[in-house]
Amino acid sequence: MSVGARYASLLAEIDAEAAANGAGAGSVTLVGVAKGQPAERVREAIAAGLADVGENYVQEAKATFPSLPPVRRHFIGHVQRNKAAAIIALFDVVQSLDRLEAGLALAGAAERVGRVLPVLVQVNISPSERFGCSPDEAPRLADALRERPSLHVEGVMAIGPLTPDRRAIAGAFSLAAKTFARVGGSTLSIGMSGDWREAVRAGSTMVRLGTALFGERG
Ligand SMILES: *Cc1c(COP(=O)(O)O)cnc(C)c1O
Repeated sequence: MSVGARYASLLAEIDAEAAANGAGAGSVTLVGVAKGQPAERVREAIAAGLADVGENYVQEAKATFPSLPPVRRHFIGHVQRNKAAAIIALFDVVQSLDRLEAGLALAGAAERVGRVLPVLVQVNISPSERFGCSPDEAPRLADALRERPSLHVEGVMAIGPLTPDRRAIAGAFSLAAKTFARVGGSTLSIGMSGDWREAVRAGSTMVRLGTALFGERG
């Protein structure tokens, strides 16, 4: 199947799952995760309608993004303070903000170029995951970030646990959804290639798909 055909069929499956859970069609945004993928595949998906692209690495984004048509660019990797200016220059949204120091660095870099940066607070819901603040810390971190006028906290991002146990995955996403309710905002970014159905059932408004959309990473 071509990347374009896979994009269309994934969108239909996601909409069907959302509808089965009482959410409207189009209520879940699909972010295509470009890390480790040939730019050609990303361009194919964009030609088929993909409007949101995620990237974990600043270096890769520098190489790939200039060759892409206009899309909303999401940073989903670990935020290093010394990369704040580069992240601001390359991305429209930062989904992976998990500590105040990194937030302040991004706020400073955004202020310097006169931008307001949409961000999500990354919450750790999995023992297999290194990054993310604890669910209990998240509301306080969001409040502290909201004091910076150059940041706009739009919700929560989380990475599900790496386990074949579907109930454990559903439980972790339910914790992400509860944390999202405490943080507030419009975006709950949960669900990847292996667990997007559980995520949509838990109330995801944004899934981040790499391999399911583009194929195996090189
Ligand atoms: C790699 C990655 C994805 C996509 O992973 P797939 O399993 O290929 O869909 C989504 N979110 C984050 C944060 C990632 O690092």
